[in-house]
Amino acid sequence: MNKVAVITGGAGFLGSHLCEKMIENNIDVVCIDNFSTGSLKNIEHLIGNDSFKFIKHDVTNFIHVPGNVDYVLHFASPASPIDYLEMPIQTLKVGSLGTHKALGLALKKNARFLLASTSEVYGDPEIHPQTEGYWGNVNPVGPRGVYDEAKRFAEAMTMAYHRYHGVETRIVRIFNTYGPRMRLNDGRALPAFVSQAIEGKPITVFGDGLQTRSFCFVSDLVEGIFRLLMSDEPNPVNMGNPVEITIKEFAEEVKKAINSKSDIIYKELPIDDPKVRKPDITRAKEIINWEPKVDRAEGLKITIDYFLNEL
Ligand code: NAD
Ligand code: UDP
Repeated sequence: MNKVAVITGGAGFLGSHLCEKMIENNIDVVCIDNFSTGSLKNIEHLIGNDSFKFIKHDVTNFIHVPGNVDYVLHFASPASPIDYLEMPIQTLKVGSLGTHKALGLALKKNARFLLASTSEVYGDPEIHPQTEGYWGNVNPVGPRGVYDEAKRFAEAMTMAYHRYHGVETRIVRIFNTYGPRMRLNDGRALPAFVSQAIEGKPITVFGDGLQTRSFCFVSDLVEGIFRLLMSDEPNPVNMGNPVEITIKEFAEEVKKAINSKSDIIYKELPIDDPKVRKPDITRAKEIINWEPKVDRAEGLKITIDYFLNEL
């Protein structure tokens, strides 16, 4: 009999790719999502597959899944700054109450639990690149605090279930990841720049554009998450592509890749926007022998083709 994975947020960008990854590895999937930022379209192709079930549910409420469960992967949460600024309370609730419910399910089913955490736990980092040993520089009362603190709480709750209840837990700290099935209008830099460049609208760089990010292609991330799930590492592991770029250079790169005539314009920098971000992935290399394989030119091409098809 196949093992069973519950994936909260499974109808979202990363969640839907993870559903596929599990099924490819002969693990049945129970996908739970309330479609707040995800969509049926992301999982439509899986409906009808005997290895896939969907439950529409808000995971801040008690989660009931009948039968055997071997893995619980908690990915439900708004993830783009626009989304979590529009849904501050839901973001705090899904990171806190939702994580508690998902851990409760894992405890009851004697399942292994994996938390989708984020590089945002480092806030506006004072060390560079960021290592897992760094405790972060988060403003709890700033607008981004709703996301960052919810994830920090989620990590603390996960470790408490591990230490107190003996649940097998994994924590992945995900750095900016991109690829097909991102929402065109989710406000993150990549979908914003790509859709603006395709439509010939001004490309909106925030601040002076000298802030940096490091972009990882989704297939690399999903492979890393699968390996981490199968490992025995309970401590947080960074996952992302360590190749760093300024946002201004990134806007130019997108413009060139699309051969777009869009102007690049500068807008106000959002409050508490981190100045730098780059993962130190030494631990992932050591523990699960993982590093990204897809470079930005290749990943960007695949993602641009997807967006061209969508528009
Ligand atoms: P996404 O918005 O596409 O996916 C999130 C999914 O969670 C959506 O399908 C949404 O409908 C669902 N959801 C939200 N609240 C819910 C609730 N209360 N009950 C049930 N479902 C709910 O975003 P994503 O980029 O796929 O992010 C997935 C996870 O990965 C999130 O936890 C996010 O914090 C984390 N993450 C993503 C990135 C990234 O670069 N994409 C980086 C760091 C962390
Ligand atoms: N950004 C930008 N223009 C946009 C959207 C984002 O310049 O239209 C910047 C944003 O201020 C940040 C970086 O791009 O410095 C990455 O933003 P994103 O929302 O993708 O992710 P973050 O890493 O901030 O969570």
